[in-house]
Amino acid sequence: MSNIDSNLRELYQEVIFDHNRKPRNFHPMPDADHHADGHNPLCGDQLTVYLRIENDVVADASFVGHGCAISTASASLMTEAIKGKPVAEAEALFHNFHAMLTDAPTDSEDGPDMGKLAVFAGVREFPARVKCATLAWHTLHNAIIGAKAPARTE
Ligand code: ZN
Repeated sequence: MSNIDSNLRELYQEVIFDHNRKPRNFHPMPDADHHADGHNPLCGDQLTVYLRIENDVVADASFVGHGCAISTASASLMTEAIKGKPVAEAEALFHNFHAMLTDAPTDSEDGPDMGKLAVFAGVREFPARVKCATLAWHTLHNAIIGAKAPARTE
């Protein structure tokens, strides 16, 4: 591994550590008009995602729950990433995020700009952890479509 790679890895771990220690938008939302529960039985991660959607835009997003560092940091970064975005863009981010973690690596120059969400790219090397990272996004998707059953990663 080159020095650049290991520096990048350290930076990524710092971002995940920071968002796990101080999760952003970590609170219930009494005036939410969408919400869904998610559960990753493999790891024990459990969370609820709350949304307030106005004119097809994610006006507000928050979450509560408990789980491993990856699942908490992923939910935290997700709520930051989707706030103020059109619902269609939030859904597109979900697909890009999922592809980043599960598809074969491609030339990153060609990929969509994932911003801070790119910190999870390294999770692909740990298949059991992919479910931790994607749980919040599956739950977001269910909240948007109004699914009644909890999102599961299995
Ligand atoms: Zn987990």
